[in-house]
Amino acid sequence: MTEMKYDVVVVGAGIAGPIVARNVAKAGFSVLLIDKKSAIGTPKQCAEGISKTVFEKYDIPYDRRFINREIYGAKLYSPSGYELELRYKEVSGVILERKVFDKMLAYYAAKAGADVLARTEAMDVIRKDGKIAGIKAKHEDEPIEIYADIIVAADGVESTIARKAGINTYAPPHEFDSSYEYEMLIEGFDPDLIHLWFGNEIAPRGYVWVFPKDEDRANVGIGINSDNPRTAKYYLDKWLKENNIPVKKLLEINVGVVPVGGFVKELAKDNVIVVGDAARQVNPMHGGGMAEAMEAGTIASKWIVKALEEENPELLKNYTTEWWGTDGKRLEKVLRVRRVTEKLTDEDLDLFIQILSGADAEKIASGDYGEVVKALLKHPKVLMSKRRLSLLKELL
Ligand SMILES: Cc1cc2nc3c(=O)[nH]c(=O)nc-3n(C[C@H](O)[C@H](O)[C@H](O)COP(=O)(O)OP(=O)(O)OC[C@H]3O[C@@H](n4cnc5c(N)ncnc54)[C@H](O)[C@@H]3O)c2cc1C
Repeated sequence: MTEMKYDVVVVGAGIAGPIVARNVAKAGFSVLLIDKKSAIGTPKQCAEGISKTVFEKYDIPYDRRFINREIYGAKLYSPSGYELELRYKEVSGVILERKVFDKMLAYYAAKAGADVLARTEAMDVIRKDGKIAGIKAKHEDEPIEIYADIIVAADGVESTIARKAGINTYAPPHEFDSSYEYEMLIEGFDPDLIHLWFGNEIAPRGYVWVFPKDEDRANVGIGINSDNPRTAKYYLDKWLKENNIPVKKLLEINVGVVPVGGFVKELAKDNVIVVGDAARQVNPMHGGGMAEAMEAGTIASKWIVKALEEENPELLKNYTTEWWGTDGKRLEKVLRVRRVTEKLTDEDLDLFIQILSGADAEKIASGDYGEVVKALLKHPKVLMSKRRLSLLKELL
């Protein structure tokens, strides 16, 4: 049996894992980053959209090798076809090529000094003297034991390692969305914007998206509540058919689950931490989690480095405190907004998108929910409906 010893082992080379591995390796500690995939980043389970701000914020090169397309905003469609366009003068986001992006993040971690092993699956934790001493894994089908002072569970939404280490990551099925996505050739949509369709018949609790990767190629997907009696594929195919969009040039099919109902409370226990989708650190409004994984990974790595420098694993608890005091606090607010939007009828969605299309798009595009609510509250059809008023007041 091969045995290895590191300061830190990171399970999962998606987004959160490589950020942690890179930052901890940069600080001079020994790190092993593992992923069960044979090719890191492949297959993707993502629509690949992310804000442009993350590159500078998390020190990631703006590298054309993983940027498919620059995006200038979004277009929202209501159930009856009202449209709201939010277009910026500057590039606001990008559609990545995650197969390249994830691999490059692992490459940056390796360049910073981390060891990286693809096709290495963590199977269980190793317990010694009542403590977690590392993980048991399989590398190319051979069993290996990786000993480490700190174990990072960055193993995505299906995470097993945090749970095996005693962290409570359980959430009931209705707190997840099911997604289905085609990467396909598609025409007729402005390729400089992302496009989102809302409606209880179109995508219950979620939305249909078209995220352009080219002039005529896009990720076309859907997210719906995972306890729906029908599948996400059913709703996506229905929408494509109703809109006369042929699915004849289909390059990829992706299926995935997104945690949208709240976040893992305890993010660190003894010498184990959980980060990214594994901790359900996802924006519950739109289901995006890459930026959140980067933020959590950054906070986690800061406390890992401090804990190693001071040889005090107790300091890892500060990751829980800091995350909940910052991004966790922000995401809890977003979760409250989501719970209100879940109660909206198709008529509400039609009316709100209609009203907002006449409001100050710049303010709305800034993502300030307060401004959105204020714009809605001014409208007579809102003022005359007690239900709508009370829903919107919940958001203030
Ligand atoms: C259909 C869909 C569309 C999405 N679209 C967007 C979007 O447009 N923008 C956005 O920001 N977010 C999007 N998301 C969410 C986003 O993909 C995740 O939030 C993000 O990838 C989380 O990063 P992570 O590092 O926590 O986990 P992941 O990226 O899931 O990485 C986890 C890694 O752990 C590995 N792993 C798992 N178990 C083990 C094990 N036992 N041993 C070794 N390795 C293991 C996996 O192979 C994987 O590589 C989407 C999700 C889905 C499903």
